[in-house]
Amino acid sequence: MPDNSKTKLFDRIALIGIGLIGSSVARVIKRDKLVDHIAVTARSEKSLETAVRLGIADSITLEAAEAVKDADIVMICSPIGTYKEVMEKIAHVLRPGTILTDVGSVKSAVVRDLNFNLPEGVHLVPAHPVAGTEHSGPEAGFSELFEGRWCVITPSAATKQSAIDKVASFWRAAGSNVEFMDPDHHDQVMAMTSHLPHLIAYTIVGTAMDLEESLMDEVIKYSAGGFRDFTRIAASDPTMWRDVLLNNKNAVLEVLQRFNEDLTALQRAIRWDEGGTLLDLFAKTRAIRRGVIEARQEKLYD
Ligand code: NAP
Repeated sequence: MPDNSKTKLFDRIALIGIGLIGSSVARVIKRDKLVDHIAVTARSEKSLETAVRLGIADSITLEAAEAVKDADIVMICSPIGTYKEVMEKIAHVLRPGTILTDVGSVKSAVVRDLNFNLPEGVHLVPAHPVAGTEHSGPEAGFSELFEGRWCVITPSAATKQSAIDKVASFWRAAGSNVEFMDPDHHDQVMAMTSHLPHLIAYTIVGTAMDLEESLMDEVIKYSAGGFRDFTRIAASDPTMWRDVLLNNKNAVLEVLQRFNEDLTALQRAIRWDEGGTLLDLFAKTRAIRRGVIEARQEKLYD
């Protein structure tokens, strides 16, 4: 159940990255006064200025180390591929007792990168809000993004419970349901529910792009036949998705292998007019859709 008791959780948070997820986090914080001060750092001056204009940053700096100084929680909201570089910049400033968390869509590789030079006494609490849209940047965020969605937290057995509880409280205050998982298990689940669907969407739209021009025009004209839904997913941020797929290589290749086998079986069923095979599968997949709706996970943004 979402936690509706919105009490202040932290004095000062440093957000590293203020795109879709970082700016949504900042909007939740401002809406519910969860933190006194939001220090923001990003790659570009432009995003920082936008954050100030939107009223979601109390201080801004291009220097990650400066943003992190004196923060009691640091949340990394930049693409996974930047984590090593971010850690090199901030590790020496993190003081004992600070909570270091993130929002990355992959967990095992992230835990490895964040642990690499984690200072003694800093509490690492990796997290993944399973919520998003195909839009990027500080203006794309909104405070309701996390409502009714899962946030998966993947702490190690050695992590201090009070730090885990505080991160969980933050996500519950944002309206999320919190689940705890082992990082490898998280990555296997997400490979199927999120990473493979994105890969398929990028492939289908890529295949359409290779059609001759006249046919391509008609693909767009008649896209409501199914193609349209893939174009939404395939419009997702290129950098983020490159990083996700390269950092969850094993789990993605495993589900991709299974998918290829199943696709080949369907190809065979079509070739040999095995209508029963098709009917069996389609009836089962329809039931999955009903399950998604019953679990209230059917909202268009994910
Ligand atoms: P986004 O909208 O593209 O924003 C990324 C932010 O990171 C931008 O503010 C960018 O700064 C900043 N950044 C990039 N490189 C940086 C660096 N080297 N140092 C500091 N900041 C840097 O991305 P997003 O969708 O919010 O995704 C951010 C994270 O959330 C990713 O790890 C992703 O896996 C995770 N996530 C995303 C979704 C989703 O659906 N999008 C869902 C769940 C989790 P500039 O704006 O200045 O370039």
